[in-house]
Amino acid sequence: MSETDDTIFGRIIRRELPADIVYEDDELIAFRDIAPQAPVHVLFVPKVRVPTLDDLTPEQAPIIGRLALAAANYAREQGFARDGYRIVMNCNDNGGQTVFQIHLHLLAGAPLGGFGE
Ligand code: C5P
Repeated sequence: MSETDDTIFGRIIRRELPADIVYEDDELIAFRDIAPQAPVHVLFVPKVRVPTLDDLTPEQAPIIGRLALAAANYAREQGFARDGYRIVMNCNDNGGQTVFQIHLHLLAGAPLGGFGE
């Protein structure tokens, strides 16, 4: 992210805010959600600034693949890939997005039910 980025996630990446970081590499960081919606709730956030999925350019499309692969690797390493998990990305207000830096939610650890339940 650029130095001018001031989202909460930018501050976590720069270690200005604490977070329970479970994975990091040159391109992304993953940390436990502060308000978990499932027994396992981890956020996967790219280090390059992309406010919403609606802002993603064709050149930035590989970012989504890297986030998804990191989440899948984490699920496998933690031993819950076979039981299953859910990946969610919210976009803008009606999608429930509250932090305007794209991120994947990884939810697992219990049956998650269907939409609308
Ligand atoms: O998709 P959305 O933008 O709503 O997700 C943002 C998520 O970031 C929320 O689930 C919220 O609990 C989480 N969060 C966090 N640590 C913070 C601030 C927000 O894990 N310091």
